[in-house]
Amino acid sequence: MFFHLIITTDCNLRCKYCYEEAVRDIGVDVGVSFDYDLPSEISYDVNDLARFCSLDPDCSLIFYGGEPLLQIDRIKQIMDRVPAKRFLIQTNGTLLHELDANYIRRLHTIAVSVDGRESTTDFFRGAGTFKKVIMNVRHVVKQGFGGELIARMTVMEPVDIYEEVRWLLDNDEFSFPSVHWQLNAGFWNDFERRDFERWVEDSYNPGIRRLVRFWVDQMKKGKVLRIYPFLGIAKSLLEGKPSKLRCGAGWANYAIQTDGRIIPCPSMWGMREFYLGDIRNSSPIGLPEVFVGDRCHDCHIYRWCGGRCLYANVLKRWSWSSYRLVCKTVENLVNSLRRTLPQIRGLIKSGVVKYEDFQFLEFNGCEIIP
Ligand code: SF4
Ligand code: SF4
Repeated sequence: MFFHLIITTDCNLRCKYCYEEAVRDIGVDVGVSFDYDLPSEISYDVNDLARFCSLDPDCSLIFYGGEPLLQIDRIKQIMDRVPAKRFLIQTNGTLLHELDANYIRRLHTIAVSVDGRESTTDFFRGAGTFKKVIMNVRHVVKQGFGGELIARMTVMEPVDIYEEVRWLLDNDEFSFPSVHWQLNAGFWNDFERRDFERWVEDSYNPGIRRLVRFWVDQMKKGKVLRIYPFLGIAKSLLEGKPSKLRCGAGWANYAIQTDGRIIPCPSMWGMREFYLGDIRNSSPIGLPEVFVGDRCHDCHIYRWCGGRCLYANVLKRWSWSSYRLVCKTVENLVNSLRRTLPQIRGLIKSGVVKYEDFQFLEFNGCEIIP
């Protein structure tokens, strides 16, 4: 089982799609009862986490925040005491240089928030962020990090998905071996003041189709680029295996709040009706499963989509007609990949690429359905 471990709720950045939107949201009634008294840092005994994790031989912990590296001593303490099968981290990357090399080398995956080129990243994340992130990813590689390094983008208008992903995969500053992105859509009450529909139709959906063509063209040269949303769906299509909610939230990937309570996903922080257990008296095996997305059951691509974002489905910050636009992006993505399936199968059959090239660690924090 995978667990996002919320180390702290503090963050050293003030990103547009996170901090700025959260500030606008203060005091808004979203029809859900929240716990407002949660500690901003871990308040449970790390030995309780060790006991909890030891009950599951596959226990994988993903350090998460806020910005988890604001609490480096806590991270080190957990890595020293908790018998997890693997440790992963999702970080904004600005403090990675402060983590000692022997801990860096023990991480299985480092997912770093970066939205693309310098101008794009700094526009959303603040001036100077990009340079710090690039300096630090170079640093972790120099320190001997041998795990998977994933550029984790948050994508919204006016981003050109094709250009930014291509840049992250291949540039003169630091070419990321893996890229994932999540659409900033449906999380906040922001639809009316955005230009989402036009952007989806004119930029994002055509960009995805172009990117899929580029992905397959690279396969013809023997290389399966680790573009996560594509990898995840292509793998399912190749195996003929439908998926539940692909991020795993509420069935394969849970989150542990700073007070030790267990929730389906880190974004569902403080939502009382979704408290599923407590590390002090629950087992990681057999936690209750949660699915929210009734509209999905009748959807013709549900098998391949798996449903999108539990959190967005609970809060319903976008009306169904607005949310349909998000589903259309999923449809476009799935159909673009479906169309390439005969070609991909042919490339595997002729030995140009291998089936294993499409494998990855599921529930590593990449939601797959962006
Ligand atoms: S495309 Fe939309 S309605 Fe269909 S399964 Fe995915 S999230 Fe649900
Ligand atoms: S996609 Fe939604 S439900 Fe899944 S981990 Fe992300 S915020 Fe949580």
